[in-house]
Amino acid sequence: MHIPKKALAVMAAALLTGTAGIAQAQEARNVIVFLGDAGGLPTLNAGGILAHDKPLSLFIQSMPYVALSDTSSANRWVTDSGAGMTAIMTGHKTNNSMVSAIPTSPNGGVTAVKTLLEYAEQRGLSTGVMTNMKIWDATPAATYAHVASRKDKDSIFQQMLKPHLGDGVDILIGKGRADAVASFAARQTTAEKAFAGAGYRFGEDPAIVRDAARAAVLRDSDFAPIPAVEATIAQLAKNPKGYFLMVEWDMHTSGDPKKGLRHVVEMDDMIRRVQEIAGKDTLILFTADHSFGLRMGGGERGAPLLQQYEAAAGEPGVTTETNDVISVQDGHTGEEVIVAASGPGADKVRGFMPNTRLFDIMLSAFGWKRDQ
Ligand SMILES: [Zn+2]
Repeated sequence: MHIPKKALAVMAAALLTGTAGIAQAQEARNVIVFLGDAGGLPTLNAGGILAHDKPLSLFIQSMPYVALSDTSSANRWVTDSGAGMTAIMTGHKTNNSMVSAIPTSPNGGVTAVKTLLEYAEQRGLSTGVMTNMKIWDATPAATYAHVASRKDKDSIFQQMLKPHLGDGVDILIGKGRADAVASFAARQTTAEKAFAGAGYRFGEDPAIVRDAARAAVLRDSDFAPIPAVEATIAQLAKNPKGYFLMVEWDMHTSGDPKKGLRHVVEMDDMIRRVQEIAGKDTLILFTADHSFGLRMGGGERGAPLLQQYEAAAGEPGVTTETNDVISVQDGHTGEEVIVAASGPGADKVRGFMPNTRLFDIMLSAFGWKRDQ
């Protein structure tokens, strides 16, 4: 069979393009990190069984790549959310209560370290932060602000609108509206004016992010996670360069363990849904900033765990700490937390790793290199 030279050249080009196509597929266009705050293995385990009365019933437990991540901070074996999230977002371990800043002098001096969200902003990607906690709390703040103390709420709000790098997070959804109102009132302005001045549509309904490329949704009550994350992704995905999204869901089980465990399932359902809509060119990660002192110590198969937990809780003298079905000793704990991943770059999630490696995994999934 005779094949003209021109046709051969076209075929060769097609083969080359095909090869390049495969190489490109190994880079992520988008990265989404789901951060279960205090969502350690004991909490995931109990949350899944409480909801479904079956082991391995969470979507997270079906993700193809897993690792165990050390969460210790630079100065403590047990981290807080500030240092924990700083490690994930910047690749630097820091002292507890610092937020995307590392100590540079013994008397409290710090220097800012660039976050993955800031890398994304500098490269023209769209960015989003969604949380069921306060938007200025340490975990979300570590994506966009740099402070020596997580308590410095006013500085965090100011950096939200006037960031070190780029023009700031494009889509913000979280709680702490009353805090924003108070913080901006102290500066002789209003939250509405301050956010509008920085180009944000400002409101309380997560649905507004569908129609605004820059939007800040601040409220003081819970919201439905799946519609909010769908609206956020629909907006961010309009950017052909891609996006970075961080979604935090609080899984602390102090006070009411059932609430934290319900949040496990809410986030799990959210990840299942996002996996369906985000596209194959999206690296999806789940991890926790630290574990928590919850343990499932009992329960029989064949009856709902929730009933057994509540029956035990109703017995005289039984406290959250002494419930023998699920007990909680209030506080963060130091054991490694799970990382689960799917999508381009997910195969690097394996073995035991320091939490700082998550930063490198996300950075290299985008095809970028550290510049500090
Ligand atoms: Zn935390």
